[in-house]
Amino acid sequence: MSKNYPVIGNTRVRDAWRKNPKTAPQCVAPGCECKATHRVDVEVNWFRGDDEVGNACPLHKNDAAAVLQGIEARRSAIEAQRAQQMEGQ
Ligand SMILES: [Zn+2]
Repeated sequence: MSKNYPVIGNTRVRDAWRKNPKTAPQCVAPGCECKATHRVDVEVNWFRGDDEVGNACPLHKNDAAAVLQGIEARRSAIEAQRAQQMEGQ
């Protein structure tokens, strides 16, 4: 049996975020403006060491594709910013 990736692995609710949404990070899914309530692992292949971790709202905590897309978008934004800083030095 082969799995189709990405899939959601572990999902952990963060009570602190649920109790106090002001301190919660935003859901990582592209275009979502909800506060995250869960920390989710996204399995991208069968190597557990490659799992990605993202923050998600109740709506997206089971949406592996959206969470992964958000994680990758955030990563490339950080890399672009870093490249820009390097140029400025
Ligand atoms: Zn969301």
